Amino acid sequence: MTAAASWCALDAAHIWHPYTQHAVAPPPVPVVRAEGAYLYTADGRRVFDAISSWWVTLHGHAHPAIADAIAAQARTLEQVIFAGFTHEPAARLAGELVAHLPPGLTRVFYSDDGSTAVEVAIKMALQYWHGQGTPRPLIAALENAYHGDTFGAMSASARGVFTTPFGRHLFEVARLPDPSEEGEDTVAALEALLDARGGELAAVIVEPLLLGAGGMHVWSADVLRRLRALTAEARVLLIADEVLTGFGRTGPLFACERAEIAPDIVCLSKGLTGGFLPLGATVAREEIFRAFLSPDRRRTLFHGHSYTANPLACAAARASLALLDDACAARRAAIEQVHVARMRELAAHPRVRNPRVLGTVAAFDLAGAGSYLDPVGPALGAFALQRDVLLRPLGNVVYLLPPFCATPDEIAGVYDVIAEFVEGP
Ligand SMILES: *Cc1c(COP(=O)(O)O)cnc(C)c1O
Repeated sequence: MTAAASWCALDAAHIWHPYTQHAVAPPPVPVVRAEGAYLYTADGRRVFDAISSWWVTLHGHAHPAIADAIAAQARTLEQVIFAGFTHEPAARLAGELVAHLPPGLTRVFYSDDGSTAVEVAIKMALQYWHGQGTPRPLIAALENAYHGDTFGAMSASARGVFTTPFGRHLFEVARLPDPSEEGEDTVAALEALLDARGGELAAVIVEPLLLGAGGMHVWSADVLRRLRALTAEARVLLIADEVLTGFGRTGPLFACERAEIAPDIVCLSKGLTGGFLPLGATVAREEIFRAFLSPDRRRTLFHGHSYTANPLACAAARASLALLDDACAARRAAIEQVHVARMRELAAHPRVRNPRVLGTVAAFDLAGAGSYLDPVGPALGAFALQRDVLLRPLGNVVYLLPPFCATPDEIAGVYDVIAEFVEGP
């Protein structure tokens, strides 16, 4: 019996885990500490975190610079109401985010996570048009999109196994084809939508260049540029959900940079704090912020969370941003190189389909399998865990999304495990 047995019993008795079918899931792995790219388990194993702990860990676990920033902040100001009050970490972080983001995005609205960052973006877009006196009720989103698990974010997300029980309660969105399949079709569908219902369309929301939870589908910067051009021309807001793609995951700091576009609103979370604390940010153009200004208090953006702009989370985010320097960019480029080389090798295998790499993210589809519920995902996850690697395939979609401290050799080790699995019996 390990030292963790007593608290694992409490977990089994009292915890309901996310995205977990407790009837069939193996017991959760008790983790007692983490450092760099590794998780240390209660039974003394060291597990390589090849998915950045659900896409959040940026520089590595327990990075001392971020840990120190949080500790210092906790002793100074741990939390304060953010309506009518402010504090230095939130203000400085806002200035730093604006300086790093594509031009024109100047107003930062803080929230708690990716889903709330998306909720805020959708509410901003709808209320923006409401305030203009020309309400536009319609949001357009992509096929295979994933924007989060709250109701607004679920509505914008693809309908599927995650959303079925809630279908009647989700608002309708106009659906554009997945641009990773045939980008021309997405552009043509948006053109047709603008022609038919342009006057009703408040905003188009996209995950720029990488549809994440929908299957790690990579799509072209050229198509994104054309969606931006069409929305700009029609004066429809473009919301870029960079919750996953932000902070260097796709190479540059933001995926929008690869297309040299600036959206009207951008959603940030996940890597924002380096993966230390939950924090969301929705950053809007100044014109959108100004449209809410009025002596009429009914035109306020009536949205906020108890922990809006939590100082600890803001301090973590500032420390994480400071680590996104040239040396970090070089590490990301090295990760991309291993991905490209090893994906090329894997691609020769008949079970490996559609290998794709975008910056530090690499993915492929396992042939012969289908949906998110395909058992091959958990099977590969268990196989990798036995070899001290954390992978969590999305059904038959296998992906690597390592923290930036991961070395090329460590990542090559993950490919060795995957190769062993695909070549297996
Ligand atoms: C994960 C994710 C979200 C939701 O973020 P949470 O922090 O899990 O609420 C939203 N959009 C994208 C693109 C994501 O990958």
